[in-house]
Amino acid sequence: MRIESRKQALRFFFQKVVGPLGYKFSPDEELVEFCLEQEVKLEQKHGIPYCPCKAITGDREKNMLIVCPCIPFHREHFDAMKRCWCGLFVHKEVIDPDSLKQIPESQVRKGRDVPRGI
Ligand code: SF4
Repeated sequence: MRIESRKQALRFFFQKVVGPLGYKFSPDEELVEFCLEQEVKLEQKHGIPYCPCKAITGDREKNMLIVCPCIPFHREHFDAMKRCWCGLFVHKEVIDPDSLKQIPESQVRKGRDVPRGI
């Protein structure tokens, strides 16, 4: 399977999933291309487009939580950052993805005073 054509297919399917959740692909096209390429390679290796920035473990149940797009499983965490962990997806209103920071999930759970970054 060609990487470029599979990247296009993932773009098409992912858009349909993340759009209704209030997310879009990051305006950082270079990052989007990189993440999608890594996902296609993971899919070629494992049969599933796993997250390119999270570790695959021997636990299938845990691995299912990092199948892209994993937003529904990490909604509170990602909504607090206005981006997914990798930054492949951002909230629809975000125009400057570089202004958004990764915040550990534990910090989001602890306090609700998490800085929101646009
Ligand atoms: S963190 Fe982002 S890129 Fe990674 S699996 Fe979740 S939605 Fe996909």
